[in-house]
Order: sequence, then structure tokens, then C-alpha cells
Amino acid sequence: MALNNFLQTRSNNACELCSETDNNLNEYAVPPKKNDAIANEVVLCNKCFSQIEQANYADVNHWRCLTGSIWSEVPAVQALSYKILSKLKTEDWASEALESVALDEAVINWANAEDELEAGRIIHKDAYGVLLESGDAVVLTQNLNVKGANFIAPKGTIVRKIKLVADNEEQIEGKIEGDTIVILTKFVRKSTV
Ligand SMILES: [Zn+2]
Repeated sequence: MALNNFLQTRSNNACELCSETDNNLNEYAVPPKKNDAIANEVVLCNKCFSQIEQANYADVNHWRCLTGSIWSEVPAVQALSYKILSKLKTEDWASEALESVALDEAVINWANAEDELEAGRIIHKDAYGVLLESGDAVVLTQNLNVKGANFIAPKGTIVRKIKLVADNEEQIEGKIEGDTIVILTKFVRKSTV
């Protein structure tokens, strides 16, 4: 991939984390920001790029380069360096680097944003811990007293095309006998039929 001219100049055609000058430099937008602005992007060598894509930071020695890149003047490079250093905090050199640098709050928020989104994400699981998605079919694992509709949906009832209740991971919605009702995820099992 040919690097954007601006990034070429800024990075001096080298990985902005580890300074590697291989021929296949990548443009990487530091999440959750997108590649719609050059300021969101960092130039990465294949080695850095592939490890970041896989969120695999086991090659701890490679990431010692971050103790240099964290001092970059480029906010995107600061944010990415900070983000990865935070994952290596158990290494003394990583925690020292994090403590010694003074970054803008905006950069730190950027670095932490993706993890916070992950942590705050609402995930719906059935009674057995299986991930539920909108459109799935589920089976009731016990008799369900449908309030207001005055009937009991027996255990084993299949509810098709469920919807996830966006702000409550314990609830889904589905139609039983024509009525849309809220069902607790702990009383359903994902169905494959
Ligand atoms: Zn690199």
C-alpha cells in the first residue's frame, strides 16, 4: 500500500512505533477513531501492524520500542503507544514509561476509549452462556407466565426472530402467539432450528 504523502513525510518512511523501515508500511487508524482523518493514523511496519491487529502483545521485547514512541509529538502515536503500554503494565519499564510521560487528557481518553467501549458493551447470552444475536431463535427452558396476556408459554416453545433489548443484557423480545413480550435471557436456550 502506498503511503499517503503527508504520512510519508511525518514518519520519515519508518514505523512510528519501532522505527523499522521495511517496504510495507501500513496506515493504521487508532481506534475507535476511523481513517477519515490523517491525524487519526499512525504509520506501522508489518510486525507492529499484525500484532496490533491481533491484539497480541506477547512479544514483550519488541514493544520496548514504545518507551521511545510515547515521546512522539504526534497525538495518534502517543495514543497508540499509551494504549499498548497500558496492556504491558506488569512490565516495570512499561509502567515507568506510562508514569514519566505527561500526555493531554484527550490523548489518554483516546487511548482508553476502545477498551471502555468493550467493557461497556452489552452482550446477551442465553442460559448456557451462548451469545445471542438479533434474529436468532430461542427455546424457552421453562414455562413462562406471560403477564398481561394471561397465558403460559410452555417450556420448549420456540421463539423466532428475537430482538435484543439494547440497554438490558438480561432481556430479549420475541413474539409468542402474536404478542411481543420481553423474555429473560436466563430462561432461554439458543435454538439451531
Ligand atoms: Zn514497527
